[in-house]
Amino acid sequence: MIYGLHISTAGDLVGTPKRARDMGAEVMQIFAGSPRTWRPSVYDDAQTAAFRQACREAGIQRTFIHMIYLVSYGTPDDALRGKSITALSQMLATADQLGAAGVVTHLGSHKGLGLEQALQRLAAALQEALEASSNSWLILENSAGAGGNIGNCLEELAMIIEAMDHHPRLKVCLDTAHLLASGYEIRSAGGMDRLITDFERLIGLDRLSALHLNDSKADLGAKVDRHENIGDGYIGRDGFKVIINHPKLKDVPGMLEVPGLDGKGPDAANLQRLKDLTN
Ligand SMILES: [Zn+2]
Ligand SMILES: [Zn+2]
Repeated sequence: MIYGLHISTAGDLVGTPKRARDMGAEVMQIFAGSPRTWRPSVYDDAQTAAFRQACREAGIQRTFIHMIYLVSYGTPDDALRGKSITALSQMLATADQLGAAGVVTHLGSHKGLGLEQALQRLAAALQEALEASSNSWLILENSAGAGGNIGNCLEELAMIIEAMDHHPRLKVCLDTAHLLASGYEIRSAGGMDRLITDFERLIGLDRLSALHLNDSKADLGAKVDRHENIGDGYIGRDGFKVIINHPKLKDVPGMLEVPGLDGKGPDAANLQRLKDLTN
């Protein structure tokens, strides 16, 4: 696995790759702007060129952008859906500009419409957003299993990909905390093999663009999204040993979104825990 972490740009986009590298990361995930506002960050040509250069110099192999939290693509609320499409279009264009691999997005809820109808609205929204960009991937993240959320299982992700005619720039990011909370027993070799086999059958491993490596404060099937530091939650050190050493995940980026030992977000100490568990 290629290890990395979510890192704050802290108002210094260009300095971010080096800070990630100094923590031991080879890949990274950032927010382009504040994840809790609709207003996108706009980068000029000089900034984007400097950022690409900084990534090369720091040896950051791949950058992912995490989408803002406000979006809902399948909602019956046309205004909210429209804003979500605009925001995603802009973020995909920003990813193109920065040379990022793609944009990871949560899928929102199907409350008010039901899964079937919401999935169709969501697929059409994502399709529209993709037309505004040319290179970057649109990466669907699985959710933690709470009722009403879209993307609680591989089958739902597969339905979206199907509804979008297997768009070549559609990818998937699996979050380990969300997997456990939504009922996937990923802590055993047999459970991980089942997950990977199902993924190959339903989606295809070529679409697995990244993993979010988070331990979970919530146990198997608890349907709650609460991240914990590596080894300190219900996945535990033995669970992560199974996950990160799975032979089919050898070349897949795995990034931390953990609280951090000092509560300041993903850190070198959590990355070191992963490296210590790597065969
Ligand atoms: Zn995640
Ligand atoms: Zn989460």
